[in-house]
Amino acid sequence: MDLKAFEQRIESGGRLTADEALQLYRHAPTYWLGRMADGVRRRRHPEGLVTYIIDRNVNYTNVCVARCNFCAFYREVGHGDGYVLGFDEIARKIEETQALGGIQLLLQGGHNPDLPIAWYEDLFRSVKQRFPDFKLHALSPPEVLHLSRMSKLPVPEVISRLIAAGLDSIPGGGAEILVDRVRKLLNCFNKASADEWLEVMRHAHRAGLRTTATMMYGTVETDEERIEHMARLRAVQDETGGFTAFIAWSYQPEHTERGGVEATGIEYLRTLAISRLFLDNFDNMQASWVTQGGKVGQLSLAFGANDMGSVMIEENVVRAAGASYCMDEVEIVRNAEDAGFVAKRRNMHYDILGGPFFREHAVPRTLELSTAREAGDNSVPAELVNYPARSAAGKRQRSQPPASPVA
Ligand code: SF4
Repeated sequence: MDLKAFEQRIESGGRLTADEALQLYRHAPTYWLGRMADGVRRRRHPEGLVTYIIDRNVNYTNVCVARCNFCAFYREVGHGDGYVLGFDEIARKIEETQALGGIQLLLQGGHNPDLPIAWYEDLFRSVKQRFPDFKLHALSPPEVLHLSRMSKLPVPEVISRLIAAGLDSIPGGGAEILVDRVRKLLNCFNKASADEWLEVMRHAHRAGLRTTATMMYGTVETDEERIEHMARLRAVQDETGGFTAFIAWSYQPEHTERGGVEATGIEYLRTLAISRLFLDNFDNMQASWVTQGGKVGQLSLAFGANDMGSVMIEENVVRAAGASYCMDEVEIVRNAEDAGFVAKRRNMHYDILGGPFFREHAVPRTLELSTAREAGDNSVPAELVNYPARSAAGKRQRSQPPASPVA
């Protein structure tokens, strides 16, 4: 392999083919991949900034009919631990988020058959009514598709109804690996095929929304399929330019039906670096400290990442699969500055909002991420009776009178 020739091409802004990316991913030395990715990051972001967003990762329901075999988060319909958050509970989470300088919710959840599109519209409207400037980065492509199937409305109409209700942008979750062979093995083909996931993103971009793109690697896919995933994202980005960032994370195996072992830190750094080199039309690469921990998260900044992602405040999905790393704003800024960068707060569009919030406001330290609900809280939100349930368990639950409050 002629690394010198690759070096010259990458430094002059030349594009890698999928075959070349695969060759480098498999055979180039790790230090070389890091050096190349860091060079590309510097050319794209010469100001020496590392950005992050203060937002809260809220999962509105864990009830899901998709049953992906890599997921430790979901509960089946009727399960005693299944929950749906109430509008008031979500409003309280927003107030707590704002107190920490937060500006948006990353709102995602299971494919709950008992939540019709009207529930989402009413939730979004109630958020915007109470918090007009607060942003909703909500509903990954498979959730949009689930709503389209349940409501029998085409995807563009679902998206335009959600925008009218207050949707601001779409997170790139549910992509896993955008190759149908892999999706069938992970039991996530039915929730969205690779084409369907990409098509939802095309529609979102055409409707004027910006979105992120993700990749969950380390299950059953081959190296070729990881590169194919990136190639499909690169092609859509060439068409629409609608992706703001790419985020790769490793599969978290604990408590999942699939099981297995997690990819190592070096595999993460090589994957991040090759994504920076191959996805030449993506401006931003996020470090996934929530799956890799703070130390590898910090090292990511030398392997192509220019963004530390979200302060999160709350996390339920990765924690269910055994990882529970926490970095509050103070810790994210400490890691970015220790690596030689200037840390700046941003919004979902990567507009710079200012320096660290905690330096201007007294905020408490967060040493552990919150969860959706306190353990043992099985309360059912009062407003759910306003929405028709489809499942037998949902119908039963909604026909019962609400429990009277305990004095
Ligand atoms: S990954 Fe999402 S869609 Fe799949 S089972 Fe878990 S909650 Fe459901």
